[in-house]
Amino acid sequence: MSVEKTLSIIKPDATKRNITGLINAKFENAGLKIIAQKRLQLTRSIAEKFYEIHKDRPFYNDLVNFMISGPVVVQVLEGNNAVKLNRNIMGATNPEDAEEGTIRKEFAESIEANSVHGSDSFENAKTEISFFFAKIELIV
Ligand code: ADP
Ligand code: MG
Repeated sequence: MSVEKTLSIIKPDATKRNITGLINAKFENAGLKIIAQKRLQLTRSIAEKFYEIHKDRPFYNDLVNFMISGPVVVQVLEGNNAVKLNRNIMGATNPEDAEEGTIRKEFAESIEANSVHGSDSFENAKTEISFFFAKIELIV
C-alpha cells in the first residue's frame, strides 16, 4: 500500500446545509487525513476549467451553475490508497446507487447535488491538487 494524496471538494449543497463537519468525520473515521483545506466561492470560469473534461456532456452547464451556487470546501486528503479509498467513502455518483454508509448515500440530494467531488485516478489527483493548492500549502 502506498501513501497518496487526492483532491476532494465538498460541494455547495453540503456547505449550504452546514454539514462539512459530518462529511469530514467520514474521511477521518476511514483513516484519511485532511492535510489542506480552504473554503472558496468558485467563479464561473474556474468551475468551467475544473470540469473541462465534461464540457461535451449534457449536464455540463447545469453542473457549472450548481458548483458556483454557493461556497465549496476544497481539500487534500492523504492516506494509504487515498484515491480509491476516497471514492469508496464517497459512494456512487447517483445517490440511488450508492452503498449504505457512504457520503452520497447519507447526504446527497440528487445525482447532480451529490455533496462531494473526488479525484478518480492518481494522475488526475496530482493535476487537481495543483489546480487549487500551492506547494507551500501542502507541507505537513
Ligand atoms: P463523479 O463525481 O462520481 O466522478 P462524474 O465525474 O461522472 O462523477 O461527474 C461529475 C459530476 O457531474 C458529478 O459528481 C455530478 O455532480 C454531475 N453529474 C454526473 N452525471 C450527471 C447527470 N447524469 N446529471 C446531472 N449531473 C450529473
Ligand atoms: Mg469524476
